[in-house]
Amino acid sequence: MKYFYQGVTDDITECWQCGRTHLKSTVCLKDENNNFVYFGSECAVKALKWTQKQLKEEIKREQNKKEKDKEELLKKARIQYNNHPNIIKVNCEIAEANRNNLIFIERREKGLITKWKELKLQAKKEILIRFNLPNDTIL
Ligand SMILES: [Zn+2]
Repeated sequence: MKYFYQGVTDDITECWQCGRTHLKSTVCLKDENNNFVYFGSECAVKALKWTQKQLKEEIKREQNKKEKDKEELLKKARIQYNNHPNIIKVNCEIAEANRNNLIFIERREKGLITKWKELKLQAKKEILIRFNLPNDTIL
């Protein structure tokens, strides 16, 4: 049976080849019949006819790509966040408050701080959903 490397996952921690459990991660492979199987790294390199070094390099390459893709996504999300109508509005209002010398206490009394917070939060929620990013993402 020939196997093709697909990637690494933490979701499955049991080797389907030898049955070892509590593995830190498994290697996902696709066989000739297009079935996905999950092997521990030792069984995976045997199945792939690779060396451990080859597997490590492939995993590293994959991780680098994932990180780069994530950075790109975050960059796009931040641009859209900063151009969101709510954020533009808040920034304009802050600038105006500064021009009018409204100090923090006055801003709070007028409910501006709360309003700005809500507008920003709403914008953030929209962007996170649009980009399918986790709630704890910092924009
Ligand atoms: Zn195994």
